[in-house]
Amino acid sequence: MHCPFCHAPDTKVIDSRLVGEGEQVRRRRECAACGERFTTFEGAELVTPRVIKSDGSREPFDDNKLRKSMMHSLQKRPVGIEKIDRAIQVIQHQLRASGEREVKSRFIGEMVMTELAKLDKVAYVRFASVYRDFQDVEAFQAEIDKLNKNEPTP
Ligand SMILES: [Zn+2]
Repeated sequence: MHCPFCHAPDTKVIDSRLVGEGEQVRRRRECAACGERFTTFEGAELVTPRVIKSDGSREPFDDNKLRKSMMHSLQKRPVGIEKIDRAIQVIQHQLRASGEREVKSRFIGEMVMTELAKLDKVAYVRFASVYRDFQDVEAFQAEIDKLNKNEPTP
């Protein structure tokens, strides 16, 4: 890290400790060139990436919008709101953990499908049919067959 006083490139850490609840690290540094000391604070950055839409435009990730589209697929299905909230948390967590600044909306769509498949198959097929824009009935049927194959036999 550059020295903020003389801009020499070589500074060394002379002390390092956690601050607060341990979510930040405070470091004392010393410049090898001018001998000045300074302090840095370092913390993990939790950023939800922006969404790149199919037309190339960008918009901030909106969990309300995500909830709305999932609720739409889950209309009249026996899935409690707390399960939907948990699925949204999982998606948001994965987005933040990805470390990306921007992700394609398609990437989020795939995550929604993964979560919906765990919650409710009907909702999954509803979402997938809109999302993947099934070209014909056969593609749609193939998706349903795939689901049924994974069904454990009673
Ligand atoms: Zn310096």
